[in-house]
Amino acid sequence: MREPRTDGEPERLHRLEQRPRLVGLPAHAGALRRHNLALVLAEIARGEGASRAQIASVTRLTRGTVSALVDTLLSAGLVVEGGPNRGSVGRPGNALRLNAEGPVGLGIEINVDYVATALLDFTGRARSVRIVAGDNRAAAPQAVLGRSVHMAQQMVAESLTESSKIVGIGVAVPGLVSSEGVLRRAPNLPGWESVAVAETVESMLAMPVEITLVDNEANLAALAEHWYANADVGDDFVRVSGEVGVGAGIVIGGELWRGVNGLSGELGHVTVDPQGPQCSCGGRGCLEQVAGQEALLREAGATMPAGTALGVPDGPISALVARAKRGDEQTLAALRRAGAALGIALSSLVNVLDVPTIVLGGLYADVAPWISDEVSRELHARAIGYHDAGVRLLVSQLGAEAAVRGAAGLVIRRIIDNPSLVADHLAR
Ligand SMILES: [Zn+2]
Repeated sequence: MREPRTDGEPERLHRLEQRPRLVGLPAHAGALRRHNLALVLAEIARGEGASRAQIASVTRLTRGTVSALVDTLLSAGLVVEGGPNRGSVGRPGNALRLNAEGPVGLGIEINVDYVATALLDFTGRARSVRIVAGDNRAAAPQAVLGRSVHMAQQMVAESLTESSKIVGIGVAVPGLVSSEGVLRRAPNLPGWESVAVAETVESMLAMPVEITLVDNEANLAALAEHWYANADVGDDFVRVSGEVGVGAGIVIGGELWRGVNGLSGELGHVTVDPQGPQCSCGGRGCLEQVAGQEALLREAGATMPAGTALGVPDGPISALVARAKRGDEQTLAALRRAGAALGIALSSLVNVLDVPTIVLGGLYADVAPWISDEVSRELHARAIGYHDAGVRLLVSQLGAEAAVRGAAGLVIRRIIDNPSLVADHLAR
């Protein structure tokens, strides 16, 4: 081991002290402005209609600085200034809010058996959402990405006005994503290995955007639950996405836990039956093999067209729900078995993470009336904390739109955190 060099320290410190002067004031001033612009927008994004004076008071910036920053945000179209706000002391100021008619984030979701697109404004309102079913397992990545981009272009042409520029693209994919937006692999999309999703979508879309972000669909669905769902899920929860694959988005302290390698939440590959069927991951008796969409349909004896599910009115999940409502015994038994397996897997998750809330999403939201009792029973029997603090079981209300809304929302949140990414560009 090398001894730490003490003789070099004074020189290094000296260089560090000199650095700001060498680099010069503009860089420092630029960083400060970026920081302050984000501070001001964060205050407006709280949605309480704060005035310039109130923002100055909260942020401890001068009135003049706040006014200049607000003007930048106004000219970028990120915020709007309305009438006098209420509840202010002294002379009322004009209420500032995020602009519902301004720039939007584009969300694209590539899933195993459907493709979805969405446009979300800065208030989180969906301008438009579209879901088109189709089995993507046999299709080449370029063809599927091309189809999704074509859908996005149509949506933009139909729903966007001149003032609604697209500020960024968020893409949800059913697999492991690198920080550069490359889909490394997708367990249920054979052939999708090292696909440069961000780069491909950007070049196909041929539309100038500031940022393109790619993330796992279960993660994005969980973020959508946190940002846009009506139910108060809180800051600590796990959202299970039941589809062909079974994924979980883990939110702790309001932040997504992606794992060291971005591999967290692979709930579908948690073992629920060591002697169970072989799984595509190489394991045996994974949750997905018992409670995934295909296993569920097979066990229910449902002979339905493969490869179409969520968000499709006449798809197999709707048919499965209809059979359950009719009291079809084979369907009810398959749902009970899936619910028990899901409850066993979730109990382990709760025991490890100590999360107070589970949200059932994807197809599990559709079949919640027939699986919730089994899930609760297993949680009750197996989760240590169940009796002490309780575990809330909630059902997602976002339907098949969760991940694509999370994808568009990821872009919007990134810009609210750092409006300088787009403010000057939009103001031009
Ligand atoms: Zn597996």
